[in-house]
Amino acid sequence: MMMDKLFENLVTKTDDIVIVYDVELDDGGPHIVYVNPAFEKLMGYPADEVIGQSPNLFNGPNTDKQARYKINRALRKGKGIRTELQKYSKNGQAHWLDMNIVPLHDAKGNLQYFASIERDLSRYKKMERQLANMALFDSLTGALSRAAFMQHAEKEFTRAKRYNRPLSVMMIDIDHFKDVNDQYGHAAGDHVLQIFVEAIEEEIRSTDVLGRVGGEEFTLLLPDTPIKSASYLAERVRERINKYPYIAGEHLIDITASLGVAVISKKDEGFKDILQRADQALYKAKHAGRNRVKLAA
Ligand code: GH3
Ligand code: MG
Ligand code: MG
Repeated sequence: MMMDKLFENLVTKTDDIVIVYDVELDDGGPHIVYVNPAFEKLMGYPADEVIGQSPNLFNGPNTDKQARYKINRALRKGKGIRTELQKYSKNGQAHWLDMNIVPLHDAKGNLQYFASIERDLSRYKKMERQLANMALFDSLTGALSRAAFMQHAEKEFTRAKRYNRPLSVMMIDIDHFKDVNDQYGHAAGDHVLQIFVEAIEEEIRSTDVLGRVGGEEFTLLLPDTPIKSASYLAERVRERINKYPYIAGEHLIDITASLGVAVISKKDEGFKDILQRADQALYKAKHAGRNRVKLAA
């Protein structure tokens, strides 16, 4: 029949994997009765090596047990199911697959086969990871993005409250940064921002978290740090920023920053309350002439 040839073409030419199983679920089943060329290509098994085998052949350390259980349950009810699962090819490589399993019935309505149509998601999964990373870190400086910093800071705030620990925050804003852009260009300004973050990172501990919360505005979260230690650190950071060499092209650019420091207090309801006091202290530092540290009242 003409349609048979058409469907055969469809299944053998498609990039999607097609696997057909029998419906003998006991005795190590279901068993594979057919795989298409796309399966052979991605999974690295020739058809005759997998015919008669169980789909467990493709399981590996990252194959989700919960998803496998869901699939099994659906098959036992004679139902279809759609899920994502990691399967392993013959050479041990893991592939994320979007699986769509459909029950196939004969003319009388008896269940005859299950067909699984599967699409390789590896490329999308990689993109998903890249997107998640992009949102987490600022791509210019490597500091945490504003959203990621705030999320982290709220967690630290809750922890500090619960265990009655000090928590300090420092706001750091580059002085007259507009002039840097105006005088040397935006690209030089970008480069200065990268060096600026390097300078700060040389002065801090690995547990201190730096976020880029504005264009040339950074916040430093200092867990378990009382205001006195925070203000000493702020002074050291200010000095290092000031002394650090900012070389853009043939220019050596002079950079200073103003800093505001605040610590958690009993009546704070969220991290934003501390941040607001740090911001007010920063404002005071700017007004007092810049290139200095001010502590929140
Ligand atoms: P102040 O001492 O009061 O902080 O002066 P300022 O010029 O640094 O302050 P303001 O906040 O008015 O200007 C910040 C400037 O930073 C404006 C903007 O052009 C620049 N800027 C913000 N983000 C970036 C960036 O990603 N790259 C570059 N090159 N410039 C940026
Ligand atoms: Mg500024
Ligand atoms: Mg600013």
